[in-house]
Formats: sequence, structure tokens, C-alpha cells
Amino acid sequence: MEHYAEGMPSEFWSRISLLIDGWSLEKKISNNDANILREMAWKRDNRLREAYLSSGGMAERELIDSFLKMALTGTSSGLHIVHIAAEMAPVAKVGGLADVISGLGKALQKKGNLVEIILPKYDCMQHNQINNLKVLDVVVQSYFEGNMFANKIWTGTVEGLPVYFIEPQHPGKFFWRAQYYGEHDDFKRFSYFSRVALELLYQSGKKVGIIHCHDWQTAFVAPLYWDVYANLGFSSARICFTCHNFEYQGTAPAQDLAYCGLDVEHLDRPDRMRDNSHGRINVVKGAIVYSNIVTTVSPTYAQEVHSEGGRGLQDTLKMHSKKFVGILNGINTDTWNPSTDRFLKIQYSANDLYGKSANKAALRKQLKMSSANASQPLVGCITRLVPQKGVHLIRHAIYKTAELGGQFVLLGSSPVPNIQREFEGIADQFQNSSNIRLLLKYDDALSHMIFAASDMFIVPSMFEPCGLTQMIAMRYGSVPVVRRTGGLNDR
Ligand code: ADP
Repeated sequence: MEHYAEGMPSEFWSRISLLIDGWSLEKKISNNDANILREMAWKRDNRLREAYLSSGGMAERELIDSFLKMALTGTSSGLHIVHIAAEMAPVAKVGGLADVISGLGKALQKKGNLVEIILPKYDCMQHNQINNLKVLDVVVQSYFEGNMFANKIWTGTVEGLPVYFIEPQHPGKFFWRAQYYGEHDDFKRFSYFSRVALELLYQSGKKVGIIHCHDWQTAFVAPLYWDVYANLGFSSARICFTCHNFEYQGTAPAQDLAYCGLDVEHLDRPDRMRDNSHGRINVVKGAIVYSNIVTTVSPTYAQEVHSEGGRGLQDTLKMHSKKFVGILNGINTDTWNPSTDRFLKIQYSANDLYGKSANKAALRKQLKMSSANASQPLVGCITRLVPQKGVHLIRHAIYKTAELGGQFVLLGSSPVPNIQREFEGIADQFQNSSNIRLLLKYDDALSHMIFAASDMFIVPSMFEPCGLTQMIAMRYGSVPVVRRTGGLNDR
């Protein structure tokens, strides 16, 4: 209440109201901001008075900006942050990126920031995890390959966060593929999405403080923002890019950059987007060059990527080291909470561990494993089966656990056909064993049960930017056994 002051005549406030209405009609500010500012004027907010009285000699644009800054802080003391991402748990999850978008989003929201998320509207999403999903009565037109295409915009909340889902009306049916990634035209699909996400923000006239893009799929946002949208006057935001894994950099022939309206000639240069070792362009490199701040997901990994871990981007990272930082991920402690987890047979906590053994018994029963010896150790492993995750060590751990008389449950699937086949072969070998189970699929509910049931949990990654399963395992009272690399080395 201390912001609201008396003392100026009505005439003063009427002038301010008229000023705001004028800016709104001339499209200098969005309707949304105009509404907030109008309400502030109506309530005779002292901050507007101060800004107006000290505006002598200021250009109109400066005065508008100083008013808009207050429109942001008028409703909240925090920042307006928009995440543009390809995944978000639990609606569209492939791996840790999804957990981070909802976990970080919620944490920032709890601290008083306005947080919004923009996602593609995938046909294969878990639609039942979205509250109040509805399509807006507007169509956003966006540029791609020389044409304008319409996009439907859906809104809904996920984990209490406001989310915009973009449904392109493009003949390429970019997000009607029954899978998230792995399509021949992924580069096109995600450059299209990045462009529409910015177009949506631009057209809504929002005064965003931070646009946070993640991994190569939305790395296009950084150059698009500064080379296209800032020139249109949409320049309030600063860009944060987080690379969750430098193994995936998004490279393509240089001319493919033009699809989403980027200027190939301007960007296909060694100090901008040209890859450091071949003639293609590299989108993660572009985001490093074009973002205001670049982060990765653990301090140790941030060190490692300055050498081979950078997968060819080490020199670029060195050049931009002043704006590059490694920040350790955390987990969403509401989603991953054994005392409230609805997927568990019995909830438990560190103070009452009875439920841990009950969950172990329940999992054994469900998977038709031996329950003859309650203290026979059960080892868990939940992972994407890709070389990064140390698949040969996982294989070794399965055989070694069997040899030592323990039990082992693996939950994982592989986008690499020969790895998937190899593990199907191992699953067949243990078909008649009552101690070893390999479940070669993605299954969120089962993952919770395995964290709860296991005594130990292995993460033998060759490299690991951060890794979340070791943290989740600890939260569920399962002892992680890890290789000392990347985030597995951090606390
Ligand atoms: P990455 O992002 O490299 O896949 P992380 O450890 O950061 O690895 O995150 C993996 C996330 O995906 C964890 O939440 C893990 O529980 C989940 N996960 C991985 N594989 C599966 C699966 N087959 N079924 C269910 N959840 C899985």
C-alpha cells in the first residue's frame, strides 16, 4: 500500500490516464500493459507520479519504457520470464530437459516471478496432464520459407504454470508425428516453432524481461530475437540460453537457416553460426554467440566443455566465457516426493521407512520377481539407452548383479536400433530368471515405483551434463552408484 499516494489534483491523474490511452490507441503499448497502467493511474500509484514528474526533457519512448517497467513491477516484484522449450514434464517428456522446465519454472514462480512456457502442441503429448486446455480466438501468422502460415494457439496450465501450445497450420504437419524427436526434418520443425514462439510474444505486445531458450531445438530464438525482432522494436527482453547437453548441437547446411527468416550471409561466418570444424551452420553455437547469458547444468560439466566435452564448441565457449556459467540442476521436490507420490503402493519418508520395503515387495510382485528374501538387494536403473549413459557398464552391472545374487530392474528405451535390439536380447536371456527384469519402454508411473523399491541405483554415464536420476534416487532413499563425471561429481 505504500505505493499509493494522495496529494496530486485529479487533473494530474486524468492527464496520465489520457497519455496511457493515447499510447494504447497508437499501438505503442499493448492492451495488457495499458490496462495495468490505467489501473495504477486509477489507484493514484505514487511510482507513476514520480516517473512522470521526473520525465522533463525525456523522449516519449523513454517515458513509455519507464512506465512499462512499472507495469511489470506493479503486478509483481519479480521478472517476467518466458521459457521456450521442446519438452515439459509431465506433458511432453523425453528426458531431464522436461523435468527442468517444470521444476525451474515452478521454483521461479514461487519466488514471485511471472513465468510462462511456450511449447509445441505435439499430437503425442499427455493431454490429460493439462488443465483447462482451450484454443484461443486468434490465429498467429508466422513467416517460414518465404510464406506466412497460420498457427492456432492453445493455452492451459501444467503444474500450475501457464503454458502456450503452438499448433502450426503448415502442410508439413510438424508436430503430428507421434514422436517428439527423430524426424528427418527436425531442423525445420524446431526452427519453425522457435519463430512462431517469438512471433506470439511480439504480437501479444508483452513486455518480457527474460526469454529463456533451451538446447538446439529452441536455440534459433537467440539470433532470431536480436537479428529480426529487436529491429521491430521488440527489445525489452534479455536472452538466456541453457545447453543441457553439448552432444546435440543442431547442425544443417547453411542455407537451411533461411527457412525461419535468418540471414544466411550475415550468419554463416566463423565468429557467428558457422560450425568450427565443417562448413555447416551450428545452432547451439549461434545461441552462445547471440545470448546475453549462457548456462549449462552443472559446474563440473561447465569445466569439461572447455575441452573435449564441448564437442567442437570449446573455442567458442572460451571466447564467450564471461557470460557462460554452470549451475547445478535441482529436482521438482513436489513431483518427486515419496511422502505424497500417488504412484507408490505406500507413501513413506526418511522418518518412517516402513513404506520403502512395502514398495519393494509390491514391485517384486508386479514384475513377478522372487520375494523369498526381503533383504536381497535390488538395483535400479532408469535411463535413455544411448552410448552417453554407459550402456556397456549397464550391461556389465546386470550380469554382475545376477552373478552376486542380487536383483536388477532396468527401465529404459533406446532411439538407437542396435542398442534396443541388444537389450531385447539380454531381456530374453533373463526371461526365466526371478531376479532380473529389463523393461524396454518409457513409463513414468513405473519409474516412480522403481525409485521407491530400489536399494541402490546406478548411473554409470560416460559423460553426464547433470543427471537427475541420482538426485531422485537419493530423495527416495536409494543409494546412487555413479561414475565421477559432470554433474555426478557435483553437490
Ligand atoms: P537425460 O536428460 O540425459 O535423459 P536425466 O538424468 O537428466 O537424463 O533425466 C532423465 C529423466 O527421464 C529422469 O526424470 C528419468 O526418471 C526419466 N526417464 C528416463 N528414462 C525413462 C523411462 N524409460 N521411463 C520413464 N522415465 C524415464
